[in-house]
Amino acid sequence: MTSTANAATTPGSATSPNGQDGAQTHKWVYLFPEGNGKMKDLLGGKGAGLSEMTNAGLPVPPGLTITTEACRAYYEHNEQFPPGMWDQALAALHTVEEQTGKKLGDPANPLLVSVRSGAKFSMPGMMDTVLNLGLNEQTLQGLVKLTGNERFGYDAYRRFIQMFSKIVLDIPAERFEKKLEEMKERVGAHYDTDLTAENLRDLVGEFKAIVREASGKEFPDDPLEQLRLAIEAVFASWNNRRAITYRDLNKIPHDLGTAVNVVTMVFGNMGNDSGTGVAFTRNPSTGEPQLYGEFLMNAQGEDVVAGIRTPQKISQLRDVLPEVYNQFEQIGKRLEGHYRDAQDLEFTVERGKLYMLQTRSAKRTAAAAVKMAVDMATDGLISKEEALQRVEPAQVVQLLLPRFDPAATEAARQAGRLLAKGLNASPGAASGKAVFDADRVAEMGQAGEAVILVRQETNPDDVHGMIAARGILTARGGATSHAAVVARGMGKPCVAGTESIKVDAEARQFTVDGKVIKEGDEISIDGTTGEVFAGQIPTTAASFKDEKELVQLLKWADEVRKLGVWANADYPRDAERAIEFGAEGIGLCRTEHMFFEEVRLPIVRRMILAAADATRLLNARDRAQQALDSAPGERRGEAESALQAAQQAADNSPVVKDYLGALGELEQFQTSDFEGILGAMGEKPVVVRLLDPPLHEFLPSHDELLAEVSELRGAGKTDSDEYREKEHLLHVVEGLREQNPMLGLRGDRLGILYPAIYEMQVRALLNAAAKLTKSGKKVHVEIMIPLTGTEKELEVMRKLVDRAAAEIEKAQGGPVAFKYGTMIEVPRAALVAGKLAQSAEFFSFGTNDLTQTTFGYSRDDAEGKFLLQYVEMGVLPVNPFQTLDRDGVGRLIEIAVKEGRQTRPDLKVGICGEHGGDPDSIAFCNQAGLNYVSCSPFRVPVARLAAAQAVLAATERDR
Ligand code: PEP
Ligand code: MG
Repeated sequence: MTSTANAATTPGSATSPNGQDGAQTHKWVYLFPEGNGKMKDLLGGKGAGLSEMTNAGLPVPPGLTITTEACRAYYEHNEQFPPGMWDQALAALHTVEEQTGKKLGDPANPLLVSVRSGAKFSMPGMMDTVLNLGLNEQTLQGLVKLTGNERFGYDAYRRFIQMFSKIVLDIPAERFEKKLEEMKERVGAHYDTDLTAENLRDLVGEFKAIVREASGKEFPDDPLEQLRLAIEAVFASWNNRRAITYRDLNKIPHDLGTAVNVVTMVFGNMGNDSGTGVAFTRNPSTGEPQLYGEFLMNAQGEDVVAGIRTPQKISQLRDVLPEVYNQFEQIGKRLEGHYRDAQDLEFTVERGKLYMLQTRSAKRTAAAAVKMAVDMATDGLISKEEALQRVEPAQVVQLLLPRFDPAATEAARQAGRLLAKGLNASPGAASGKAVFDADRVAEMGQAGEAVILVRQETNPDDVHGMIAARGILTARGGATSHAAVVARGMGKPCVAGTESIKVDAEARQFTVDGKVIKEGDEISIDGTTGEVFAGQIPTTAASFKDEKELVQLLKWADEVRKLGVWANADYPRDAERAIEFGAEGIGLCRTEHMFFEEVRLPIVRRMILAAADATRLLNARDRAQQALDSAPGERRGEAESALQAAQQAADNSPVVKDYLGALGELEQFQTSDFEGILGAMGEKPVVVRLLDPPLHEFLPSHDELLAEVSELRGAGKTDSDEYREKEHLLHVVEGLREQNPMLGLRGDRLGILYPAIYEMQVRALLNAAAKLTKSGKKVHVEIMIPLTGTEKELEVMRKLVDRAAAEIEKAQGGPVAFKYGTMIEVPRAALVAGKLAQSAEFFSFGTNDLTQTTFGYSRDDAEGKFLLQYVEMGVLPVNPFQTLDRDGVGRLIEIAVKEGRQTRPDLKVGICGEHGGDPDSIAFCNQAGLNYVSCSPFRVPVARLAAAQAVLAATERDR
């Protein structure tokens, strides 16, 4: 073979360098007793587990592990074993022979082995394993004699040929399966077990003929040759297509390599006192603390996996082999205690004797993860802190949202009903009729129909439809697109940026891969995975307070975490849900969302239509007032008449009347909105952000209006009221049109240009607060200015707010308390935070905009156009709109926190962008010393857990 190294390089003795030949000294092979459970990097998960079990005195068949390092070296050495490896393997094999009293290739007492893959991270079924290795015509006879069971011997041999040929010789398994089926048919056998020894012997002959024909060679008879080839095949299986895809999907590095375990075969198919099975120490779907699994009597492991015969429940083993069952149960408990976690076990019973073949940490559903963690901590097996670390924060969301029935989803996939995959923008699952415009969705939704709103992309005009829909599907837009943000806030599933679907709203249909989905056709969307299916898939619902273990786990999280957890909520019902989930405040109430409700939108439009002209007149009046206030005695008369004229112009202007009238109506709505939300939150802080989006978002689309106006003109209806109205609207919309509305007239720029709108909002808010206070309720109001870039903006806004507050205080006859603060959403704001903190009592990082403005990536377009490709290509590690970019955006945050607190040591700092619900970003916020994170209500439980984990991880790092 590959090596001239000294066979005396025995495992366990060869680690010290001899200064001459590294090959002789490097240890590539470990006997099970030489390893331990911590050596997963080197021995793989399986090898480490077998070592650990061996050393714990559990019944493990003797064996050896060839290291992952050897696999890597195999690839480095041009697919040759590294020098010394084969000799070490032979030496270790010799020890195994001594331990078992058997010998590989000995016809009198043959040792048979399995050759199993086993990487650091479990990759179930992705790599290869060969069983019954060591069989040939001679050793077969030995096996038959020893077991006194000819049928068993031939069955083992034909299995070996079949498996070895597939894995090592690359001959398709179907060719052997076909022969097996033909044989069964020929002799009238129903199950494999119905075949006799003769049948199997004939089959062995037929199998060998296949090998001869396919490979042009005889099936290898020499057991050592078999072993060498099998080890190579397992190394090679690290790079088979399945394994590579699995690693890509699960983000497992490609350069780890797999270990190879050579393990003494034990047989579960030696008669009715033998069997094999897999079991979990706790139920992996529910977390119930009892053995869960299955076994097959008189069978080998592959029979369980292949599903040829229906296995029995593990509990039935108690009746069949009670002693074995008790021993297995004890071992399960011991392993759980030892690893302090639920285990996934593989075992075989050979003639009444139990052997353990594998133990590893059990994969589990979200529900099971939570229950297991809480149960184990309650029983004292692990600490509360460990329990908190056992659950992935993202799993928590899954427990709270409706989800598709997994079997039905799989069936849909099998049936080819998976239509497309988009961005998993807001988790949860929903089925309903596809409908392409928001009005119709609202209508059907109100009539109680299950509907999915399908749009090219949503805009604020669609909100009423989104409220009525079960879920939202868009062809464009990313994680911070309108659809995504609003859906998350509502706790509704949303699949966004599904670029493969072509939405034709006019034709009321979308097409994908040649399939057409028409309005009214059922579709199902999974916002957790981003999948879109044709037809209906049943969902299962969840309720937070019924999730007792989750409630308990989150209470422990609350004891540990330092960050406050607040919610982004715009409506009282969202606020109530946020409180149920444990929110300690509202970190962002986006007031504009209230503007979009159906009855209000026309009023908002009236306000916008009048805003520019009316503001001009109102400003003229205010300037006249200021001139009068500062006029010297001799000029007062003149100033007074100027004021009178300006006042009159304003009073007599229909446009001012319209503007103030619309504002007055909106003020009433907003007052009751705020009463609702403040009332729901009680003493907990509520941060209300003043109007933020560009005004054109409230108006009809420019292109549609233009088409309508042209149509009226074409029809000669230029004299009609309708034409005049539409023309005026078009004129206004044109006036508000911007190339980059996201960077245009929005945020506090609106407040500065149209102060009456912000004044109205402040009055509504403080009036609502005053009313509640008067009725004996406690409230905590914080007013937040969006998109601030300069200290002057914040000062001007502060004056405006104080002026409106003074008005309310005068009317109410007493002070109304509130805090004043700003969002930090543009780099400049972060860089001048020290100055902003002079007027701001709190900061809240709007990391959606801050990410947009720091990277210069449009949050509306980037994900659809290049950002996801960037992530795929590795240009960016993750989508920065989902997970905070620590180096850039994070650095700005750190600067702002530091300099803001230098000016105002008690400055309260939070985050309210989408990152506030992302575990990795939460860990950053913890480290950066923020006071709280604010996220959509459904992510509040996630954030509670993630904030606790951040503290625990930081403590571990500091240790
Ligand atoms: C933000 O920019 O992060 C934010 C919270 O505001 P919006 O998403 O409403 O722009
Ligand atoms: Mg923003």
